Amino acid sequence: VASDGVWEILAIRDIQREVEAREEVSRMALQDPLTSRPNAAAAVEHLTECLGAAPDDTREAVLIVGIDGLRTVNEAWSLSAGDRLIVEVGVRVDDAVTAGGNGPAPFVARGPGDEFIVEFSSRDAAGDAALLADSIRDSVRRPLRVADQALVPTVSIGIAVAEDTTTASAMLRDAAAALQRAKANGRDRHEFSDTGAADRAQERLRVASLIREGLRDDSFAPWYQPIVALRSGRIVGYEALIRCSRPDCELTSPDVYLPVAEATGLVADLDRLVLRQVGRTLLELPAPLTIAVNLSPRTLVDPSYTDELVAFLDEYPAMRGRLILEVTETALMTVTDDVLAVAADLVARGVELYADDFGTGYSSITHLRDLPIAGLKLDRSFTAELTSGDGTSERLSRAMIGLAEGMGLDSVAEGVETREQAAILIAQGWRHAQGWLYGRPAPHPVQ
Ligand code: C2E
Ligand code: CA
Ligand code: CA
Repeated sequence: VASDGVWEILAIRDIQREVEAREEVSRMALQDPLTSRPNAAAAVEHLTECLGAAPDDTREAVLIVGIDGLRTVNEAWSLSAGDRLIVEVGVRVDDAVTAGGNGPAPFVARGPGDEFIVEFSSRDAAGDAALLADSIRDSVRRPLRVADQALVPTVSIGIAVAEDTTTASAMLRDAAAALQRAKANGRDRHEFSDTGAADRAQERLRVASLIREGLRDDSFAPWYQPIVALRSGRIVGYEALIRCSRPDCELTSPDVYLPVAEATGLVADLDRLVLRQVGRTLLELPAPLTIAVNLSPRTLVDPSYTDELVAFLDEYPAMRGRLILEVTETALMTVTDDVLAVAADLVARGVELYADDFGTGYSSITHLRDLPIAGLKLDRSFTAELTSGDGTSERLSRAMIGLAEGMGLDSVAEGVETREQAAILIAQGWRHAQGWLYGRPAPHPVQ
């Protein structure tokens, strides 16, 4: 094209291949060729992103997993034997990572040399990191044949948990230093970069092993707290509350050990145990008395739980309407369509679903309408504040009974300790109540 005697030269060429090649290079730059995993650079990138995007109530944790004695394998046998070991340990780390927890899946990258980098975020990052470190070590510690030799690989793990102003590189540096300490302290162990976190995590490990022992020696059992009709004071049913009977078990409240049970997946075992015993108790309890069991949201979608529940109702059709499942309002608000389908099926089979700890979640009316729930249980913090004088709790609980009535739901006020509270609740229209005023949890339903 010419204008004013100036020529413009247009060159058109197909750059698709160049684009692909460049993408491949940048992918390679973030990928480890031996294990086809993200590499250390990708781990920094991922962690930086997570640190920027984390909700306030979660923290990031980094675990650097170092293979013990890789150098010896490389030197004594061959580099390819070392490579084989790295690949196999990577697979075992993946196994442990995918097996645990219900939060988002941890991110696993290959670090330099003998290292893997695992990143995740959770509400109790230190506690969860210790549990994950333990399961990684267990998963890795199985016999393996490398270069015709049997060996049992082990790993040492360094852990860092994000503080308010941490950067990705600082966390990785701290985790690497903790890994060196773990190796120096004798390998096949984990160390935290900060000892406060280590103490808290240690406590969680202790609790987790107490739960396992308690499950083994049958120390868990449901206790029963009466639920009464508010006006008449007559008992209409019971709530089953899990208790641990081990003498060494200073775990007085399930609030202490249930979060650990939740994080380790043991909660499904506890919930199933309670369900079984409640089933037996229900068969001896005169109709129409009911029993309510608590279950963690995880349990609701656990087929080993729901199958057992369905089998029980099929065997004893007379128990329809007498078994109540309590799921916290917060858990109900985040249910997926799968969970909804399970819940609807159970309800069709005669189970009643109640929203527990009502008032502490943030449910919208539309969401409540879509859930197959039969009742609301007012969280005991509202009951406790009813007589505090400032009137806020009273207005809130009045709004909630209005909601229950408007939607045709049963209503239960929890934590009723005084006659004064009971009188206010009756005046507001609450139908049922539970609390120390009527009875504490006991090993058998007290009639
Ligand atoms: P929750 O469902 O809100 O259970 C009621 C809690 O309030 C129980 O505590 C009960 O002992 C306590 N409580 C009852 N009346 C009163 C009262 O008048 N005043 C006061 N201050 N407290 C009262 P507990 O037994 O410590 O249970 C704590 C939580 O543990 C339960 O809260 C429930 O969410 C959970 N939980 C209990 N058993 C199980 C179980 O088998 N499986 C699952 N997944 N969770 C359970
Ligand atoms: Ca409950
Ligand atoms: Ca409750």
